[in-house]
Amino acid sequence: MELKEQEPRDPRDPRIMNQEKMKGSTFPTVLRSALEHALQFLEGLETNSVRPMASLPDLRRRLTKPLPDNPTDAKQVLDELMASTEGGIMGNAGGLFFAWAIGGTLPVALAADWLTSTWNQNAALSDCSPAAAVTEEVCGMWLKELLGLPSSASFALVSGCQMAHTTCLAAACNGLLARYGWDHELDGLASAAPRIRVLSSGQRHGSIDRSVRLLGMGSRCVVELAAGENGSLAPVTLNEALAEYSDGPVIVVLQAGDLNIGAYDPFSELIPLAHLWGAWVHIDGAFGLWAAASPTHRHLLAGAEQADSWATDGHKWLNVPYDSGYAFAAHSEAHRNSMSYRASYLTHHADARDQIDWNPEWSRRGRGFATYAALHHLGKTGVADLIQRCCSHAQSLLVQIGALPGAELVWKSSVNRGLVRFLDRRADTTLADHNRWTDTLISAVAETGEAFFSGTTWRGQRCMRVSVLNWQTDEDDVSRAVAAIGRILEQGHAMPDGT
Ligand SMILES: *Cc1c(COP(=O)(O)O)cnc(C)c1O
Repeated sequence: MELKEQEPRDPRDPRIMNQEKMKGSTFPTVLRSALEHALQFLEGLETNSVRPMASLPDLRRRLTKPLPDNPTDAKQVLDELMASTEGGIMGNAGGLFFAWAIGGTLPVALAADWLTSTWNQNAALSDCSPAAAVTEEVCGMWLKELLGLPSSASFALVSGCQMAHTTCLAAACNGLLARYGWDHELDGLASAAPRIRVLSSGQRHGSIDRSVRLLGMGSRCVVELAAGENGSLAPVTLNEALAEYSDGPVIVVLQAGDLNIGAYDPFSELIPLAHLWGAWVHIDGAFGLWAAASPTHRHLLAGAEQADSWATDGHKWLNVPYDSGYAFAAHSEAHRNSMSYRASYLTHHADARDQIDWNPEWSRRGRGFATYAALHHLGKTGVADLIQRCCSHAQSLLVQIGALPGAELVWKSSVNRGLVRFLDRRADTTLADHNRWTDTLISAVAETGEAFFSGTTWRGQRCMRVSVLNWQTDEDDVSRAVAAIGRILEQGHAMPDGT
């Protein structure tokens, strides 16, 4: 074969000129521009509408264009992106956002996240990025200490609580089925496999059902148990179910803080009970596990350390940017068996922690840097303060909103959330009227742009949910939100859609 002589590099070749130019000047230009845009956005959080003002048609009109045939200058692309998305960004980075379960981001975590993207490490193997691997080792150690979990537990930094459930439940399948002599990794959940049941209360989050589906267990394996008046699972209810399904492997999913009322299951009673029947206990503590970091709330998690696996989030209460979740397993062997993979082209060292042995992803970002920065910055007292502050602002919001004429406090939890509703004060009104009026109020508050809450149906009643997860929320934000709701209630039935 004849070797083709390489063409000499012509420095006047426009492609080379372009590339040289990009290396030399594009990074400073676009990164400085991004920094300016970011700072402007952050400053605007106090004054701009929390609710996105741009409609979907607006955004489609601005963003949709034919795929360009040719390159566009990087700075121009960035400027256009800013202009096209303006008004389409939800203000959840600020302190006036109280909907769903969405956190903000600490400045130090955001900065570390920028560096993570700059370094662009592939955190699959320690060999690809030793710093990413060791940072995650430390995150695992710190998180276990902070959340009161056994120091021997294995862990994985994943994209969110959904994937933390998936990781933990994969480990549960491995561990439980091994006891029945079934190799879950080799034979999966074929029809001859022992049928796994998942026992959980109706308060569980839908991400449990999705993990169960993703893992091939099928949602029919979930046995829903009735929660008690306080939203938590009673030992006698669990015991009856454990007895009924004692002929096969069982996973019990318990709740550390549910979305509506922040209910905690009584772990110190339920976990030993489940273990008597040989079940694997998994705890969903997406935000609620963080109560363990606060001395005044820690009692809610008494006994939780006895579980077999735990799932939580960094992007909710720790205020690190999306996406960041944490999975922990008491049985590291089952965890590792369910994830690990070996191939000739992958390198491993005996003293390294390769993330691919614990994580469901292959290539992934260096997710540990932002978590490490947040924990280093806050320390134990800083996290405790963050948790306590959010709880106290949530309770203050609930009490003050509940005291407004025409409002009713439905549930004030001991953590960072609760429910209120609004009463239709015309004569002879029914539950349906109150439900409609509550939804009207939720929209009207969002309309003002001053604060943002979301709704939920709880025990048949439409409610407005109050959730505080942002480090930025302060007393002024609480007063501003209450005042905005107060003004709407004063207008009362004069409102167009309230009549
Ligand atoms: C948010 C949430 C989840 C899902 O977590 P993601 O991080 O969105 O995947 C699961 N359980 C509870 C209780 C939650 O609040």
